[in-house]
Amino acid sequence: MTVYRAMSASRVLMGRMGHELDLLKELTAICEKEGIRLGWIRAIGAVKRAYIGFYDQGTHQYHNLELPRPLEILQLLGNVSLLENRPMVHAHITLADSDGRTYGGHLLPGTIVFACEFAIEILEGPDLVRALDRETGLPLWSMA
Ligand code: ZN
Repeated sequence: MTVYRAMSASRVLMGRMGHELDLLKELTAICEKEGIRLGWIRAIGAVKRAYIGFYDQGTHQYHNLELPRPLEILQLLGNVSLLENRPMVHAHITLADSDGRTYGGHLLPGTIVFACEFAIEILEGPDLVRALDRETGLPLWSMA
């Protein structure tokens, strides 16, 4: 069953992230500082190293991939919702190396910024709260 709700855009934060910050942790810290409960995130830039995950649908476990080298952020796309009443950033990222090869996955802590320009679109509407979904083993939006 597909479920959805109407949300409205309220404002957009745009910024430049500090050198050598942890990309996911800093996005989460901004959301906490600004009281953002609901939103979308986009970013481009470059990282010094990356740590991303792939969710195995059979075992319900993440396989993590460490990329300990400079990479371009071709695109980061994510959302902000609530997990245990705190903002949780769920983001996926596409990265490219010096030969243009691409890598991508679920963004994990340990991805370190070289330079990053980001936008957080703050939405208004009913809270989206994450809860464990038995079918997938993931903390999905509980929207029944
Ligand atoms: Zn994910």
